[in-house]
Amino acid sequence: MKMEKLLPACIVLLAATGGICEAVPNSSAELGNVRLKGYLGERLDAMIERHVVGTDVDYITAPFQYKTERDGWWQSEFWGKYMHSAMPYLVYTGSEKLMASVDRGVVRMIAAQEPNGYIGNYPDDLRCGEDWDVWGMKYTMMGLLHYYDVTKNAKSLDACRRVCDYVIGELGPNGKRGRELWQTGNWAGFASSSILEPVMWLYQRIRLRQDFGGQAAAQKYLDFATYLVKGMTEPEAGPRLLDLALKGVSVADRNGYGNKPDKNGEYEMKQDRRKSYEMISCYQGLLEYYEVTGRKELLEAAVKTGEDIIKEEINLAGGCASSEMWFHGAHKQQLPYLRPQETCVTTTWMRFCEKLLNLTGDTKWADQLERSFYNIYLGAMKADGTEFAAYTPLSGCRYHGHHHCYMHTDCCTANGPRGFLCFLKELFRTNGEAAILNFYASALVKGALPDGRKLAFDMYSLYPRSDWARIVSHTEGVGVVPLKLRIPAWSEKTVVKLNGKTLDGVKAGGYFTVAHEWRLGDVVEMSFSMPVVAHTLEHNVAFTRGPVLLARDSRFADGDMTEPFRRGIKDGETMPTFAAVRSPSDDIWMAFSATLPIGSHHANPEGRLPTTVFFCDYASAGNTWQRDNYYRTWFPIEYGPGE
Ligand SMILES: [Zn+2]
Repeated sequence: MKMEKLLPACIVLLAATGGICEAVPNSSAELGNVRLKGYLGERLDAMIERHVVGTDVDYITAPFQYKTERDGWWQSEFWGKYMHSAMPYLVYTGSEKLMASVDRGVVRMIAAQEPNGYIGNYPDDLRCGEDWDVWGMKYTMMGLLHYYDVTKNAKSLDACRRVCDYVIGELGPNGKRGRELWQTGNWAGFASSSILEPVMWLYQRIRLRQDFGGQAAAQKYLDFATYLVKGMTEPEAGPRLLDLALKGVSVADRNGYGNKPDKNGEYEMKQDRRKSYEMISCYQGLLEYYEVTGRKELLEAAVKTGEDIIKEEINLAGGCASSEMWFHGAHKQQLPYLRPQETCVTTTWMRFCEKLLNLTGDTKWADQLERSFYNIYLGAMKADGTEFAAYTPLSGCRYHGHHHCYMHTDCCTANGPRGFLCFLKELFRTNGEAAILNFYASALVKGALPDGRKLAFDMYSLYPRSDWARIVSHTEGVGVVPLKLRIPAWSEKTVVKLNGKTLDGVKAGGYFTVAHEWRLGDVVEMSFSMPVVAHTLEHNVAFTRGPVLLARDSRFADGDMTEPFRRGIKDGETMPTFAAVRSPSDDIWMAFSATLPIGSHHANPEGRLPTTVFFCDYASAGNTWQRDNYYRTWFPIEYGPGE
């Protein structure tokens, strides 16, 4: 079978229309008009070339050729995850090599489809059961739809529709398997129920294709989505994603409620509701469903859950979860804990922030996305871009992830590339009559307003290493267009200048709008307040600068990192002795010296003097992935008598 190669035409079309091939919401074909440069651009290019383009598509599609998965593993997720980023990066790069790979993969996937629609690697008796089969089909549907979004290839859309028809036939209302979809898979139904997201994508695409039956044919998928939402929100022992959220039950405390613990007080994997990645993936689908149906309580539940995660789980690196589960980790982040900050959780959290930013326009989600991106995300990405760590501690060493399911890959290295897209997609957007800049980095950005007016800006910034950004207009002759600039909540005083003139009314934590009739060469300059701030928790202290968590690193060779700080540092205190210094090597993006009250020997006149030590950004810390390169972010503060 040979697929039509429609891509070159589509790329030309993208360039001409400002990234919109067709009015499909949440399309992966949105990246043709951003070009990231500088440090971040280099890291992105390396990751795309060595990881995404370098993926052996025959290897990850091989499992689908045989129905031999009797161990209940998840080999069937890897291709869909690959496509989740491969298609947008294909639009971003136009790489012919990547195009050949994704074409070949889709041909192999469609060739593996059974007459009944099934694409997967489970034998019939184990399909749609306790394990990861439905989860795998979710990712296969996503992969086929990402391909469709860019190529408009009808065979890919048809294959996805047939997978969904198969799932409906087996697990839909009165399905052949005689069980509800939420009762399959693991984690209280989260894993399987997260298929809602691509079901909604499928609905949105079928309804626009008259040759597929248009709205009348699409209704079947919306009805199935309604059935899924019912399963996710109503059964007492199910995912309970609505009522527990609206009641304000913290994500780490959502066990029980219809499920009983075993004799040791533990919940089995089957019914445990603390699994971070799978839970957020369900909310992602519920938000897609909300966009179509307007059921506001679903948005409210997602927002409340997101706010709870920020308050209870997210640490200073923007990471979360222990052993991939919620555990009130924000309040325990100074401690070493089991399997910290899984990259799948990081990527999924960033996607959730991206979605909530788009739906609510609230910049707090951009603040969170930014924090996760610059710290835990870039920290998990290997310096050469070839792979992602599975777990990335706040203090310790960095290292390779798993080999999952008897394959030379794993969930995190497959999910990793998708995280960068959240940053890239939200860097610059047009929304209604305005242009929005959420992040500041060296980049050329272009976009079009709904009426076709074209905009372009060239940004130069070393942010967040530097505290400023310069944005030059490449736009002219389009009249007044508001440019909305995100002002980070942590920047107490942000200065915005237009052509050298300081503008009034800039406030932390929101958008500041520059409504201007843009001409070529108009310059917007921004400067942010980025003092180093101390954070204390249970006799420990850590330091941030802007969105960046700071770390000591063994490469500075500046003494014992476990040496305690003396008492007296207050939470939220500004630390004036930190100063940016030249980085000792290309491996380290940002370096700082600081003169601090460290050490136990302060009864001695010499010992009471402060000590000068060095810090780097958390993402650079430990990034050689060698055992002799270790780092620390939380430092002990000494105890005294009576404490
Ligand atoms: Zn993972």
